[in-house]
Amino acid sequence: MVERKHVAIIGGGITGLSAAFRLQKMMEETKETFNVTIIESSDRFGGKIETIRREGFTIERGPDSFLKRKKEALELVEELGLSDQLVSNNMGKAYILKNRKLHSIPESSFMGVPSLLKPLLDSTLLSEDGKARALNDLFIPPYPPFDDMSVGDFFAGRLGQEMVDDIINPLLSGIYAGDLYKLSLRATLPQFIGLENRAGSLILGAKQALPKKKTSQFATLKKGLSSLVDRLVETIRFPMLKNTCVTKIEKMNGRYKMSFKNGEALVVDGVIFTIPHEKTQELMSDCPYLKQLSAEPCTSVGTVAMAFDASQVTIQKEGTGFVASNKEPSTITAATYTHLKWPHTTPSGKVLLRCYVGKAGDEEILDETDETIILKSLNNLKDVVDIDGQPEFSVVTRLRESMPQYVVGHTQLLKKIEETLRHDYPRVYLAGASYDGVGLPDCIRQGNDAAKQLFNQLKL
Ligand code: FAD
Repeated sequence: MVERKHVAIIGGGITGLSAAFRLQKMMEETKETFNVTIIESSDRFGGKIETIRREGFTIERGPDSFLKRKKEALELVEELGLSDQLVSNNMGKAYILKNRKLHSIPESSFMGVPSLLKPLLDSTLLSEDGKARALNDLFIPPYPPFDDMSVGDFFAGRLGQEMVDDIINPLLSGIYAGDLYKLSLRATLPQFIGLENRAGSLILGAKQALPKKKTSQFATLKKGLSSLVDRLVETIRFPMLKNTCVTKIEKMNGRYKMSFKNGEALVVDGVIFTIPHEKTQELMSDCPYLKQLSAEPCTSVGTVAMAFDASQVTIQKEGTGFVASNKEPSTITAATYTHLKWPHTTPSGKVLLRCYVGKAGDEEILDETDETIILKSLNNLKDVVDIDGQPEFSVVTRLRESMPQYVVGHTQLLKKIEETLRHDYPRVYLAGASYDGVGLPDCIRQGNDAAKQLFNQLKL
C-alpha cells in the first residue's frame, strides 16, 4: 500500500490555522487526501491573537480588529459561519498627541497625507514652516523611477520632515512600530510608488485615493478575535499538537525530518512555516537570504488595558483615541477609548482604555514591572483624559519581538528566498507576518496561498 503523503504546518497562529483550514477544504472538494499535522510550541493556538473575558469586559491582548477592505478575513469569518458575530467599529475623531495636547488629524487625509489644503493650513500640528514645506509637494518634480526607498525618506522628500514626524509616523507606527527611515516603501505602502508622478503630487494623489464615502473600516467579532481561533480549532480535523516546539529540520531522502524539543520526530513530505522569520532561519540556517531577512530585529511592543467605572473617567475631546507624535516623550505610543470605539467590549457604566507601549528604539519599557507600566501609562493618559483614582483592574501584555520590520529591499529579498526554496527545498513554503503583510487579512491570504501551492505540489 502506498503511504499517504504527510505535511506539517509549523505554528498555530492565524496563518498556520488558515493554511490548515484551506488544506482541509481543498481535500473536501477533491478526492485527494494527505496527512496534515499542525505543530504549536505554546500551550494554546492563536499566536498573537488572545482575547480574555473578565468582569463583563472583552479585552484583546494583541490585535483587536481587522481591515474590512482586504477581503480574506471577512471571507474566512463567513466560511466558518461566524458572520452573525461581526461588529464594525464606531467611527469618531482620532487625534495626535503632541506637546501633551491632543490635535486633530487634518480631515480628509489618506495615511496622513492631506488631500485638502484648508485642513492642512488650519492644523495645529504643524508650524507655519512645516505647512509651507508640505505644500511644496504641489510644485516639486516627481521622483525619478526607483526600486525601493524608505517610507520616511519618501514622505520627507515630498512633504518635509515635520509632516513625517508629527503626522505620518504616528499614524503608521501603530501598524509597524518601526523606524520609518528603515521601513521599505515597496513592502509596506506600494500604492504610493509613482503616485506623485501619476497624480501630479502626493496631495493630489491622496485626493484620488480617498474613499468617496466615509464608512467604518474595521471589524471584529462580538466575543473577541479568539472566537475566530476557537472556531478554526473546532473545525480543523487534523492532529494539532500543542507544547511541541520544532527545533531542527533535516533533509532526508527527498523528505524532511523535523525534530521536537521533547525528543520526538516526524518525517514529512512538505512543510509550511508560519513562525517568525528569525525562528525559521534558525531551523533552515543554510538559506542565506533568510539570514539577511533576520538582520533587522522585530520590535517589541506591549498593550495595557485598564478598566474603570464610568464615574472615574471624563474624555476631554470626543473621539475614539489618539496616537503620539514621534517626538513626544510619552511612554504610550497610542491609546484607544475602547468602550467608545467598540461598545460591545464594555459593560454599561464602565470604561475601557487600552494603550500601546514600545516602539523601535524605545522598547525598555517592557522590562519594567506591570505596576510601573500601568503607572506611566496612566500618567500619560491623565494629560488628556480626566481620570480619578486607579483602574478597577488592568491587563498588561508584553509581545516581545512581535512586529517584523520590512526594511528597504524586503520584497527583493523575498523573491530570492522564494527562488532558493523552490530550488533547494521543494514543497517548503513560508507564510505569515514576517513576509508579505502583517495585518490579519494578509496573514490569512498567505496561509491560503501556501496551502494551495503545497496542495498542488503534493498532487504531482
Ligand atoms: P503568530 O501569531 O506569531 O503565530 C506563530 C505561532 O508559531 C505562535 O503561536 C508561536 O507560539 C508558534 N511557534 C513559534 N516558534 C515555534 C516553533 N519552533 N515550533 C512550533 N511553533 C512555534 N493585525 C491586524 O490586522 N489588526 C490589529 O488590530 C493588529 N494589532 C496588533 C497588535 C499587536 C500588539 C501586535 C503584536 C500585532 C497586531 N497585528 C494586528 C498584527 C497581527 O496580529 C499579526 O501579524 C498576526 O497575528 C501574526 O499571525 P501569524 O500566525 O503569522 O504569527
